[in-house]
Amino acid sequence: MIDPVQLLQELIRFDTTNPPGNEEACVAHVESLLRTHGIESERYERAPGRPNLIARHAGARGAPPLVLQGHVDVVTTAGQPWSRPPFGAEIADGYVWGRGALDMKGGVAMMIAAFVAAHESNSPTPLVLVVLADEEDGGEEGAKFLAEEHPDAFGGARHALGEFGGATQWIAGRRFYPIQVAEKQICWLRARVRGQGGHGALGVKGGAMRRLGDVLRTLDRKQPPVHITPIVRDWVMGIADALPRPQALVLRRLLDPRTADLTVRALGPKGRIFGRVIRNTVSPTILRGGGKINVIPSEIELQLDGRLLPGFAPDDLLRELHGLIGDDVELEVVRHDPGPPDPDLSFYEPLGQIIRELDPGGIPVPMLQPGVTDARFLTRAGIQTYGFLPLRLPEDFEPLPTVHNADERVPVDALPFGVEAISRAIARYGA
Ligand SMILES: [Zn+2]
Repeated sequence: MIDPVQLLQELIRFDTTNPPGNEEACVAHVESLLRTHGIESERYERAPGRPNLIARHAGARGAPPLVLQGHVDVVTTAGQPWSRPPFGAEIADGYVWGRGALDMKGGVAMMIAAFVAAHESNSPTPLVLVVLADEEDGGEEGAKFLAEEHPDAFGGARHALGEFGGATQWIAGRRFYPIQVAEKQICWLRARVRGQGGHGALGVKGGAMRRLGDVLRTLDRKQPPVHITPIVRDWVMGIADALPRPQALVLRRLLDPRTADLTVRALGPKGRIFGRVIRNTVSPTILRGGGKINVIPSEIELQLDGRLLPGFAPDDLLRELHGLIGDDVELEVVRHDPGPPDPDLSFYEPLGQIIRELDPGGIPVPMLQPGVTDARFLTRAGIQTYGFLPLRLPEDFEPLPTVHNADERVPVDALPFGVEAISRAIARYGA
């Protein structure tokens, strides 16, 4: 048996801040821990010092394996006001404190504990444990590399457990457990606005600077149209059905394009996420224009972090944006990470059932991730990931504000809850 709390503490104490990552020592620790339990593993390394680790459990059931995938790199702690050392892994006030406690060394510790327990009890379910580098900086050395260069390493798997989801979300006194089943797709864009250039001393009216100002103002005030996808419908309805009638009525108005944005505003900070999953979105992030203080530029470049709903293509976003900012702005796609149009939900219901068993009164709901995780790369190897790292959290602890931020921590007793949930998922997979 592996104690997930102790393992999490050990993992946090390796500083795997990415960049640069430096995952080697942390991965070597997992490798030797597995070995002490009689499990050999293989390294897959694209960049020196940044290995990924794969371990297998054969299982007697002649079916594709279930993948357990998680990353051990973490984001920076620089400039953040931590009240405890971020790599100290102290236990205090009932929490394990440190960078990665939630994202996602806690999840990795739970998966390793469940994997080893399954191995030691001779579980019939075939398993592939995948410990990944480089999730937080694009996945080039991690999941992207494995999915593109070594898809066979996943052993023909169709489904995986990974981030993000399975932790309690309290709404109106009820406990919901969002399980990520799909992600939006990255669709980064470059926009170019043009106008008359000239000499700075002489001036220009209505040039590229003015046009850029119009574009930025429009993007701040208006948004692309609302599209309600089936996952978001199930997500919202799953919450609404469990709430008292007045709140349920408000929430259901999210699903009507005419009232969706008013509803997002009415829901306040907790509703913000819904504004991002009911449409394709763009956020202006990088601006390049002008190179000399006395030359008025005739062209300015604006980069936009665009995100597409599942089932939509870059052309849809381009059309929607031209509709907002005009046809004279030149738009170009600089990166698109395509995702599957529809998630494979075949293992969703058993996961939801496990939540209901372990927390009677807990309500599982499917979730669309507005950001991205390594799941998008695994889809390229034909694998559907479910964000299922269950944590039972108290009502006075809001986990999300601590992720990528100061004072990231996880309740000590949430970790055995997660190990039990993952162990049940392993036992039922393919049964
Ligand atoms: Zn993560």
